[in-house]
Order: sequence, then structure tokens, then C-alpha cells
Amino acid sequence: MSVRVGVLGATGAVGQRLIQLLDPHRDFEIAALTASDASAGETYRTAAKWRLGTPIPEDVAETTVGPTEPDAVPDDVDLLFSSLPSSVGEAVEPAFLEEGYVVSSNSSNGRTDEDVPLTIPEVNADHLGLIEVQRDERGWDGALVKNPNCSTITMVPPLAALDEAFGLTDVRVSTLQAVSGAGYSGVSSMEIIDNAIPHIGGEEQKMETESRKLLGEFDGAAVDWNDADVAASCNRIPTLDGHLENVWADTAEDVTPEAAAEAMREYPSIDLPSSPDQLIRVFEEPDRPQPRLDRNLDNGMGIATGGLRETADGVQFNCLAHNTLRGAAGASILNGELLLQEGYL
Ligand code: NAP
Repeated sequence: MSVRVGVLGATGAVGQRLIQLLDPHRDFEIAALTASDASAGETYRTAAKWRLGTPIPEDVAETTVGPTEPDAVPDDVDLLFSSLPSSVGEAVEPAFLEEGYVVSSNSSNGRTDEDVPLTIPEVNADHLGLIEVQRDERGWDGALVKNPNCSTITMVPPLAALDEAFGLTDVRVSTLQAVSGAGYSGVSSMEIIDNAIPHIGGEEQKMETESRKLLGEFDGAAVDWNDADVAASCNRIPTLDGHLENVWADTAEDVTPEAAAEAMREYPSIDLPSSPDQLIRVFEEPDRPQPRLDRNLDNGMGIATGGLRETADGVQFNCLAHNTLRGAAGASILNGELLLQEGYL
């Protein structure tokens, strides 16, 4: 039987991706849509101004969008996917959690809170155990699970492979991030066409902290963050989708590019509907991965790496993932699938 789900912030860049992925999903059935007060009361077709390359799902198109408050969501909805601006998420998520909803959220608020699981199912599914700590501490009947920032999620699986095999000590990363990462009204065309912007507010700090939490060890009560030193520099470029990143990873043990590639290829995936059979694909061609060519790998859920070469204390590589699929909507659906598999719904 399908789990009835709702989407908070259903009209935005990530919200539309959620609808696109949830409509055909084998385990989830869309039962509620919310957005801002400006959209509430409109049909989804009118409010969303559908911008994706696949047709708007007809059954969803005529659904009325509700305001983002617990009373607007039917009681028999078990799981909410949230793609609200962080300031809105921070303000409204607690009310849904108090009402007993399980929330799989894209918003950055709370991602590094000690009792909030920040999960990439293939990397740290066991961190979901923090839900018990969260319920004890906050008295919520529901549960809050976060997926990481889209640029963090791109580099963490290859870093996890290297950490497991060789031990990470220092990570330096420079990003080339697509405009969809800023949402529909995030970057104006006058700013970004024929340009690159060497600043994305708060992004460096998210990559530096979230990655260390994701790569940390959960001991049943808390996550002991990975103590690698991570430093990031983030840039916006005029691609539509797909974040490309240049990573320098220093390791405790000696590593060759060949051994690093093998560790990445062999890093296991997880048996969930949205997870690719092979999580990390390593390109041999030195000019791959590229956003336009490789962002849709494995339905946009694959992590692509390439350009591996030796450095003084480790390896340098490039990595790429689709920011609104693997980096956002697909990531929270994957967390929803994990919640279902682990019996939280
Ligand atoms: P977006 O395109 O601006 O969409 C925002 C959504 O939130 C819309 O549905 C909007 O509804 C709704 N909303 C705005 N203000 C609201 C309010 N006061 N009350 C209720 N609903 C409100 O943003 P996005 O790119 O989809 O990002 C959504 C979240 O995901 C953000 O927290 C972002 O940081 C995170 N995220 C985004 C990406 C990405 O690649 N884009 C990746 C990872 C994480 P209206 O249409 O009615 O305004």
C-alpha cells in the first residue's frame, strides 16, 4: 500500500522536482501540496508555472495548493517532503513535527543540530538512529530528517570512499554551481549570463560543516564528527543544472589515483528504489564529468567523478551531481524511502 505524502513548498524549483519524482513513485502517493499564501487557493497548474522538461502530472495539476500549516494537511498523510526557504522551514517545521508528521527536509535550518539526522542513505543510513534521541529531547511525535546542501552531497560519497580506504586528513574544494541551485528567482539573468560569481552566501560554511557531520560516526547517542579539515570556495556559473567541483583530498595513508578510483567504484550503494546500482562512476576521460553531458547519469541520482591525479599528500579529482535531483528532491525522497524501510512510517 502507498504511503500518503505531502509536499511543502511544492511550487518552487525543488518542489517541482519532488512532484516530478513522486508522481510515478511506487511507494508514495501525493496527497497534499502547500506553498506561500500567494499561491494558496490556486490550482497547482496556476501556482507552479511548471518549468520542467516533462509534462506537469495531470492528476496533480488540478489539485488546490494549501497554505503551509498543519491544518491544511490531511491527518492521514504520513510523510512530508519539505522544500521551503530555510527561514520558513525554521519557522514552520516544528508545528508539523509536534503534530506527529515525519518531515524529510531540504531546508538548511537544523542540519547541524546534534539531534537531527543529516543523511545520505548510501553513506550514513545509521545516523537515522538519532530520531530516537530527537524524540526524547524534543517530545515530538513526528521526526525531522535533513538532506545535505546540494554541493556537499556531490563531494561526500567520493570522500567517504577515500576516508574508508585511506583516512582523510584535509579537503579543499572549489565549486562551479548551476543557477537552479539558487531557486527560480535566485539569480537574475543580467547577473549570470556571460559571467561567473565567486560568492554564494553561506555555501562554503555548509560544505565545511555538513561534510564532517555526514562522515562522522554515530555511537547510538550522538554523531562524532569526522575531524578532517575541510575548506571550500563556491562559485556560481551559467549552467542550468549540475554542480561541478574540483576537490583536493589529502589522506593519512598513501594513495594512488588508481587505488582511489577503485575505492570509489567499489563504494557500495544501497537497496532503495531511487538509489543507483553503482553509486560513484569514475570517468577515465580527463575532460569528464561535465554538467551538460553527465548530470542525468542514473536518472540524475548518480555521482560522477574523474580527472584523478596524484598530489603531494593525496589525490585531486573532479566530481559532479545533479543539484535539484541527487542534490535536493531525489535526496529527500531517498531519505523518505529509508524512513519507510526502517519502519518510521
Ligand atoms: P524556490 O524555487 O524559491 O521555492 C520556494 C518554495 O517555498 C515555493 O514553493 C514557495 O511558494 C515556498 N515559499 C516561499 N515563501 C514561503 C512562505 N513564507 N510560506 C510558505 N511557503 C513559502 O526555492 P528552491 O530552490 O526550490 O529551494 C527550496 C529549499 O531547498 C531551500 O531551502 C533551498 O536552500 C533548498 N535546496 C535547494 C537546492 C537547489 O538546487 N535548488 C538544493 C538543495 C537544497 P510560492 O511559489 O508560493 O512562493
